[in-house]
Amino acid sequence: MPNKEIRVRIAPSPTGSLHLGTVRTALYNYLFAKRTKGKFILRIEDTDQQRNKDEYTNGILDGFKWLNIEFDEGPYYQSERLDLYRKFAQKLLDEGKAYHCFCTQEELDELRKIQRAAKVPEKYDNRHRNLTEEQKKKFLDEGRKAVIRFKLPDNIDIKWHDEIRGDICVNTSDLGGDPVIMRADGIPLYNFAVVVDDGDMRMSHIVRGDDHLHNTAKQIPIFEALGFEVPIFGHAPLIFTHDREKLSKRKHGDIANIDKYQKEGYLPEALANYLVHMSWTIPDNPEKEIFSFEEVYDKFEFSRISKSSAIYDLPKLNWFNNEYIKAKTIEEVYNLSKSFLEKELDLSMYPKDQLFQMIDLVKAGVNKLDELPGLIKFFFDDKFALNEGENQKILNTENAKKVLDKISNSLDSMNFKDSHDCKKTVDDMGKELSLKGKDLYWPVRVALSGSNKGPDLGLIISLLGKEKVKARIERALKVLV
Ligand code: GLU
Repeated sequence: MPNKEIRVRIAPSPTGSLHLGTVRTALYNYLFAKRTKGKFILRIEDTDQQRNKDEYTNGILDGFKWLNIEFDEGPYYQSERLDLYRKFAQKLLDEGKAYHCFCTQEELDELRKIQRAAKVPEKYDNRHRNLTEEQKKKFLDEGRKAVIRFKLPDNIDIKWHDEIRGDICVNTSDLGGDPVIMRADGIPLYNFAVVVDDGDMRMSHIVRGDDHLHNTAKQIPIFEALGFEVPIFGHAPLIFTHDREKLSKRKHGDIANIDKYQKEGYLPEALANYLVHMSWTIPDNPEKEIFSFEEVYDKFEFSRISKSSAIYDLPKLNWFNNEYIKAKTIEEVYNLSKSFLEKELDLSMYPKDQLFQMIDLVKAGVNKLDELPGLIKFFFDDKFALNEGENQKILNTENAKKVLDKISNSLDSMNFKDSHDCKKTVDDMGKELSLKGKDLYWPVRVALSGSNKGPDLGLIISLLGKEKVKARIERALKVLV
């Protein structure tokens, strides 16, 4: 298809929040459309009226926007295209390529039971394929409702060259019998609506998760029956957890959907980079892990997507996010994390330049932005416990008392505007007391910040300022006695 317009799509069903796997497939299609200067289309497959929810549709649209994934067309909604599916179903009926099936649920259950007992694959036995007019009339008179089934060619190999998985062959006898394409209430089923839409919207490539391999084998004959050109297919491996389970909301909770990552302060570009990188590396530089959309626009190929399953790895995602956070300016990090900070801290306590300094102190250790308030909280209040655990052990030493007494008497001589001077004063005190290292620093750190670890002590002292330092040292000394 050398001159054919490239058209690809993502077609989520709004029966749940946006899944990481859908995002990853969307990214692959988006990057491919960019490289080929093709069109990327969003279609919402909302024909399952029982399970669809508007909040899921909104979450999906919002999620793609957050990720900076842009569409050239859409969103199209299948619920607004029902007439089209009905028209095409009628066409298939008229041409003898589909038929009404009047089987009741009980009859189908019975059939399944027999097949199960005989240990043969469960499938519809196409029993209503060739009903006479008389038989049809009898069922109608009984008040039965009919679904429409597609006549799947018997026992033929459906073959295609898959962009990701190579040559694929599925025999139609393994596809469960003639598939239902329209329910009795005139609502199309996935395998039919998807073909009508992909054909009508002139998709050139369909790249989706490899859980759709059998669906593709059902869909190819439907494309042909409707007279549409069959697109090129590609099936990407799904995302699995370390214990080899398919990543799902039901089994793994909120890690499967992007809401969590939006809420916890992951950067969209870090999440996107992580998801693309899970199964795809840059052709001329496979070692390079951090890359932007723009950097790979001209390099993206479906054929380089790995065939093996992608493994969800939260520490790795956190590493990506941390790298992206570190690469931001302090002001960017401040702006991005403002909503998290405001929720927990009274930012009016400090001028902006001091808030920036605090962020600068801890930013390198932040995996996600919602960790930030916790890391600088001690600047805002002294609600940390001194008389328990490690803190108590550190303060309950003779040296601690000496250090804290000494520092409380040295506050007047300290230049709080200069963090180096603050640190030097502490060091000088240490020399006078013949104390250094943890004997000297830890009691001060614990008294001021509630932890023996943390950012530069001079900066802590200077940012807290004289009054807070004084009050906190006094508080610690009280715990000591
Ligand atoms: N609505 C289908 C899904 O969410 C689309 C699959 C496809 O891309 O054809 O799985």
